[in-house]
Amino acid sequence: MSDYQETLYEGYGQRFRIEKMLHEVRTEHQHLVIFQNPVMGRVMALDGVIQTTEADEYIYHEMLTHVPIFAHGAAKRVLIIGGGDGGMLREVCKHASVEHITMVEIDATVVDMCKTYLPEHSKGAFEDSRLNLVIDDGMRFVANTRETFDVIISDSTDPIGPGEVLFSENFYQACHRCLNEGGILVTQNGTPFMQLGGVKNTAGRLRGVFADWHFYQAAVPTYIGGAMAFAWGATRSDYRKLPVETLHRRFAGSGIVTRYYNPAIHVGAFALPQYVLQAVNKPSNA
Ligand code: SAM
Repeated sequence: MSDYQETLYEGYGQRFRIEKMLHEVRTEHQHLVIFQNPVMGRVMALDGVIQTTEADEYIYHEMLTHVPIFAHGAAKRVLIIGGGDGGMLREVCKHASVEHITMVEIDATVVDMCKTYLPEHSKGAFEDSRLNLVIDDGMRFVANTRETFDVIISDSTDPIGPGEVLFSENFYQACHRCLNEGGILVTQNGTPFMQLGGVKNTAGRLRGVFADWHFYQAAVPTYIGGAMAFAWGATRSDYRKLPVETLHRRFAGSGIVTRYYNPAIHVGAFALPQYVLQAVNKPSNA
């Protein structure tokens, strides 16, 4: 049996035993592989970077959906950018209060292949009547749409290739334009231990756009290099500092069962290590 070697970093990385190669294709946008690993279950990678595994996807998807939606408290319209594997959509669909979900994914092949080979990720969420699935570049969509949203979740690949534009100031400004009063943007922003420049750049770009910006984190084992950072951009500053009792009430009232998220984790996730705080609080031109 051969191994899959992640190529995200020079000189450092992780390998996965390929028990069975399930699918490999060069799509219109990226190189996609899905294979079976004896420890992490089914694994998908795009352009040499691990995107998601059956074993730990719930941590990432729960933290990028339930944190902003419970913080908002009355989110009805949600936009997902990227998220082709369907895990983010599955978690958003658990919120009965959400009335409409737009998902803008650039690569239809990712959606099709994940429906087939990673069915546990979407678990039928692509059939949810609230979903409007748009195959397009997320940047083009937020620049041109007349729709507005309460929560925007950017679940993109890293800032290389098609995902790069989703880390630009134009993207954050366009998302801000699409947010209703009280709206919140959250994004995957890499692992600061290995990609500190990434959070620093995002901080510099969010600073001039959102009334309140910060980061929160969670350790997702297959996003190597320690805890992953999630960017937070909000039109109000109180939604990031809700009392844990409020979150407990909303979480209990939702009837949603989770495996990672809970209100104490929600509050604690916004506490950042000193080196990350120093990086994000120093203007990027300093
Ligand atoms: N959890 C992963 C991570 O943190 O890196 C992301 C998983 S999800 C599969 C990433 C998705 O972003 C892919 O399906 C990819 O096709 C999509 N994507 C990349 N660039 C995009 C863009 N400009 N517009 C919309 N979707 C994009």
